[in-house]
Amino acid sequence: MSIKTVAEFMQEAMYNPKNGYYIKQNPIGRARDFITAPEISQLFGEIIGIFCVSEWMRIGSPASFNLIELGPGRGTMMQDILRGTKHVKGFKEAINLHFVETNENHIKIQKELFLGNWHSEISSVLFDKPFILLANEFFDCLPINQYIFSQDGWCERCIIDNKDFVNVKVDHELAKYLSREYQNVPINSIVEINYPARNMVEYLCQVLKTMKGSVLIIDYGYDLDLPLGSSLQAIKSHKFHSIFENIGEADLTAHVDFRALRKIALENKLNPLPVMTQRDFLLKYGIDLRASILMKNALTEESEDIKRGLSRLIDNNQMGELFKVLNISYQF
Ligand code: SAH
Repeated sequence: MSIKTVAEFMQEAMYNPKNGYYIKQNPIGRARDFITAPEISQLFGEIIGIFCVSEWMRIGSPASFNLIELGPGRGTMMQDILRGTKHVKGFKEAINLHFVETNENHIKIQKELFLGNWHSEISSVLFDKPFILLANEFFDCLPINQYIFSQDGWCERCIIDNKDFVNVKVDHELAKYLSREYQNVPINSIVEINYPARNMVEYLCQVLKTMKGSVLIIDYGYDLDLPLGSSLQAIKSHKFHSIFENIGEADLTAHVDFRALRKIALENKLNPLPVMTQRDFLLKYGIDLRASILMKNALTEESEDIKRGLSRLIDNNQMGELFKVLNISYQF
């Protein structure tokens, strides 16, 4: 009999060196498991490019800075960023590219596209110059732990023999912490904590205290005081899938708790912007204007494509509302 925490289960399915999903599979694309914003429309990466230029200027247009991307996948967003910003004076020359990526198929694709530095973990990136760090659909990959407030108190929601859930009582310290963080929750409520995501944001906040920079996190998730319920999901071939079937061959993710990540920045006395929806963020940086310029120069069919892409990215019943954006930056 084996009992694993949800985090151990995710870690094993996604990252085991032999056949982990984020090590060995080829997940992104229309014919694969899922499709991401940069793969939907070039508008997405282009707008992130505008964000990068505006942040670069805000931190004083440094002659050399690190442009870091976590989990670049097929490299589409970075290609669109670089193409869209190539005429900005001094920007291109200032960029040192760094990628943090575990998937060997993705690394191969990225190495064909870019000259840069590859890392398997963020801790091996040297933060020795100003930086802009981007993470699109990266934090949802990181393993979460789930806890449940049962009749007998706080338990960890574990997985038995890779086929069912079982509750295991947590120790006194953790129970105290959970009671404090999640007060007055109804019996059988499930809460999720993404420890690696929290640790990574804490790490980046420490960096931001000593180095000018800007961190942009985009993902599906919530911005709630008390998020309850399991958001653990498996996706294969664009469809929801049982988490217990085809382990290592379906994408396992969880929604990102943006409120918790922003709180870490606040506790570090940084001044993060409020969490925005993807819709508000992309409109703030002019996605509708960019779309109309592209459409003016396009054939009818291409123009329809651009319009469809824009809708998918910003409509509230598509990605606009579900996806959130957190920007934490260096304070002057
Ligand atoms: N940002 C891309 C890809 C998103 S999919 C896009 O928007 O299209 C998530 C990416 O993160 C994949 O490339 C996956 O291989 C990578 N990844 C997942 N977990 C990782 C980890 N712990 N460290 C580094 N890369 C990781």
